[in-house]
Amino acid sequence: MISLVISVYNEESILADAWEEIKKVLSKNNIDAEVIFVDDGSTDSSAKILNDIKQSETYAISIISLTRNFGHEAAMIAGIDHAKGDSIICMDADMQHPPSLIPEMVEKYNQGFHIVTMIREKRDDNSWIKNKASRLFYRFINRLSEYQLDENASDFFLISNDVAEKLRVNFRERNRFLRGFIQIVGFEKTTINFVAPVRIGGTSKYSFLKLLRLSANAVVSFSKSPLYLGIYIGMLFALFSICMAVYSLFVYFFGDTPPSGYTTLVLFMSISFTLLFFLVGIIGIYVGYNFDENKKRPLYLVKEIH
Ligand code: UDP
Ligand code: MG
Repeated sequence: MISLVISVYNEESILADAWEEIKKVLSKNNIDAEVIFVDDGSTDSSAKILNDIKQSETYAISIISLTRNFGHEAAMIAGIDHAKGDSIICMDADMQHPPSLIPEMVEKYNQGFHIVTMIREKRDDNSWIKNKASRLFYRFINRLSEYQLDENASDFFLISNDVAEKLRVNFRERNRFLRGFIQIVGFEKTTINFVAPVRIGGTSKYSFLKLLRLSANAVVSFSKSPLYLGIYIGMLFALFSICMAVYSLFVYFFGDTPPSGYTTLVLFMSISFTLLFFLVGIIGIYVGYNFDENKKRPLYLVKEIH
């Protein structure tokens, strides 16, 4: 049996259609599945629609309602925590993760793969610049991190229950990048490419700011490199300072007039202070993340499970 984990946040306009499409795929391919909808604190009628779906179906459907909006990643983790299948597929409710690929994913699982990462070749709704930025982000993080992540891995994936168990026990970080985690647990893994179609309705819940935060989470949880930046810049500045000192002393003792260095001073001070404050900021980010981890607050809170 597979568990389908679908996170839902204010998706009233598409839920019914999405479910029809998923159901079609499941029944056509005779896939034994439990479906877990995680209602991530929706404020529209999503909860009611989910209940209606559950009432009218004979499928094993669970609805996990969170107490408030905890974010997509937390919702997926809630679903994974409660899944009972031999394998688990996480997907979006907006059909940008085509259900028609489910049989292919299950096939890979049957071949013995524990992890099937879906690689998004491109998103039809994304501008050229957004697709490019997403590719750049993966390049950047792979350069920084000791781990190598598949480029354009999406949060559409299949994991075996063995992998899920590792996530449930060992990856309980508050600041996380779930699709990164599943790539570093090990196990046999494979990928399938796909093109994400446009949303079947509604609007994207990921604002630019949210994406930026997700990217920062990913960098902090996968790399310590930014913390070393200070040392490198320090070395560079030390070299520079020595040159400046030798030059200044030379002119002071042997020159005709003492060096007038207003411009040099202003430039030197403003550049070094700028760098210094940036570095303090970077350290601040890591300290802040550490603070969050130490508080050990729950990743999500469940209001009720149907
Ligand atoms: N989602 C969620 N919680 C949130 C934001 C989004 O559960 O705080 C769900 C949303 O309902 C959808 C999936 O996560 O099923 C992906 O969100 P969206 O389509 O808005 O992101 P995009 O595809 O634009 O990156
Ligand atoms: Mg989407």
